[in-house]
Amino acid sequence: MAVVKAGAYGHGLEAVAKALAAEDIVFLGVANVAEARRIRHAGVATRIYLLGPTWAGEREEIVARDWTPCLSSLAEAEHFNRLARAAGMRLKVHIAVDTGMGRGGFLQDQLPGLMAALEPLAHLEIEGIGSHLPSADEDEAFTRTQIARYLAILDQLGGPARFKWRHLLNSAGLLGYDRTACNLARPGLMLYGVSPLPHFQDQLATVMTLKSRVTLVRTLPAGHGVSYGRQFVTTRPTRVATIGIGYGDGYPRHVSGQGAEVCVHGCHCPILGRVTMDQIMVDVTAAGDVIEGDEVEMFGPHIPVAVIAEKAGTIVWEIFTGITPRVVRCYLGDRG
Ligand SMILES: *Cc1c(COP(=O)(O)O)cnc(C)c1O
Repeated sequence: MAVVKAGAYGHGLEAVAKALAAEDIVFLGVANVAEARRIRHAGVATRIYLLGPTWAGEREEIVARDWTPCLSSLAEAEHFNRLARAAGMRLKVHIAVDTGMGRGGFLQDQLPGLMAALEPLAHLEIEGIGSHLPSADEDEAFTRTQIARYLAILDQLGGPARFKWRHLLNSAGLLGYDRTACNLARPGLMLYGVSPLPHFQDQLATVMTLKSRVTLVRTLPAGHGVSYGRQFVTTRPTRVATIGIGYGDGYPRHVSGQGAEVCVHGCHCPILGRVTMDQIMVDVTAAGDVIEGDEVEMFGPHIPVAVIAEKAGTIVWEIFTGITPRVVRCYLGDRG
């Protein structure tokens, strides 16, 4: 299952769904019906899986389009069953089981008892069972416990063969743990070339490079403040380039004053003062002859996005999904 929620982690939902359409992928994982619609409108026919609980108003469309929900409650299952009966069909559904995430799914202890009520719902076909890992990149012992719990649930419900699709692993789970409990995985972040476990990063190639251009270059004298709040003041004559990107593009304002760098002419240049909405100033004194129009890498092959996320006090997932629509997405193979 390729997880393409949140606009394919900011990479562009339609473009990524189309790029993945020809791959051997069973499901595209989305957050809600609006994302599912966009995939269908893009002409991609891969099955769609809704990663979280649905609300009642979404369910009729889910049934009509034969998208695949994961169930978290008996009430949700019964509603889907009624809608599927009315539509004269049998809807394929997955059971979500909460083995420790605390966000959705049937509670692990209650599921075996509830199966007796779920199994007779004649218009539902329970073809899969999934669970989710909250700390596969932080807590190995807990994650191992969760995998064991998941296997125990499978056994209680009649063994792995009872379910066509068994899935538990996100990117960190897939990279760092035994995969034999499952026959389907749900990678998100690693699809976009970033590993949640740093030691696997060299096996992946980051998909997104965020670039801008130099709009102005000046030499500021010593003692000159730079940007809002004047938190940075030059201590020497400084070659300062203004870059046409800011937090209005999703570049995180929280890196201000944290020593973040950009890459100009292959040279790492420090950001000076605060990130503003549309512009950022950097010290290009060491970067040679920088002129207006020069390309600037904000993150990508030279500036790891993980470093930017860390300096912003956040995670790469939030950086990617925060890149705003103002940033034009260009894809390899695009012309012009
Ligand atoms: C977002 C999500 C994933 C993907 O997680 P990554 O850490 O990005 O690989 C997998 N499963 C579920 C249920 C999710 O919500």
